[in-house]
Amino acid sequence: MRTFVVLGTLAILCGSTLCGAAPAGAETPRSALPAPAEGHEVTQIGPGYYTFRYTGARNVFLITCDGVIVTDPIEPEAAAVLREEIRKLTPLPVKYVIYSHQHWDHVRGGQIFAEEGATFISHRNCMAHFKDLPEPEIVMPTRTFSGDRYVLKLGERKLELRWLGVNHGDCLIVMAPDHVNVPFIVDLGTAGGMPLPFIADYSLHNWVRSLRELEGWSFEQYVGGHGIALAPKSRLTERREYLEALMTETRRELDAGTPLDQIPEVVAGRLRERFAHLRGFNGIVRDNVRRTITYYGMGW
Ligand SMILES: [Zn+2]
Repeated sequence: MRTFVVLGTLAILCGSTLCGAAPAGAETPRSALPAPAEGHEVTQIGPGYYTFRYTGARNVFLITCDGVIVTDPIEPEAAAVLREEIRKLTPLPVKYVIYSHQHWDHVRGGQIFAEEGATFISHRNCMAHFKDLPEPEIVMPTRTFSGDRYVLKLGERKLELRWLGVNHGDCLIVMAPDHVNVPFIVDLGTAGGMPLPFIADYSLHNWVRSLRELEGWSFEQYVGGHGIALAPKSRLTERREYLEALMTETRRELDAGTPLDQIPEVVAGRLRERFAHLRGFNGIVRDNVRRTITYYGMGW
């Protein structure tokens, strides 16, 4: 049985007290964060700007006077629940679905929106992935853009799509509405968590570069593709510092000639003091090191 929670749907954009019921309000850097919850929830971020969480995945959607912009549909059951939630807020149709990147845990299930006539948008680089390995539950984009910036206008709103280059895959975009300074940043900095064990489809140095670029943007909070509704920007810094430490310490042991099978334990010990608070640290850190050994061995 799915639970249903609506947090802050009556809240308006109000700076530091954004959506008072949202879990980010009590969140402090360097704290442990809970694992993703079951069920789903809708949280208002600002006027017409919402985030929808379905179990461990999260998107944003934007209600304008001319219709709705949805981002990642997540998967078919999630998309159906999301459609119901949007209907509670507006009778207007979903006009656009925007994919943050090509990964199947975010972009399956858009058919329900295609049936009401939505246009599907992604960065052009995603198309090669969708064609190379088709997934029947992914609706192919009907509009793509190349380059590093695209602005989608609907009604009184604009949504800026920013491509930062290769980082997590080669087609990931960060989305930022023009009226609320809270961007949607998928998979580059899940707040309080660890990277996936084998850091699947991440280019380590490009991930660090993209995080540095985002740290230079002027916002205080962001919505991630997993986890809590609103994360402080410091969580991106925390992720970058973890990656830099992982890379530095792994490189150090490789240069020192430490036997490969001993390096994960040595580096785990070095990182523990600074990063043991990250969710899943003890179970994941050694696999992160093994992945980083491969990075330095292959350049991948
Ligand atoms: Zn991904």
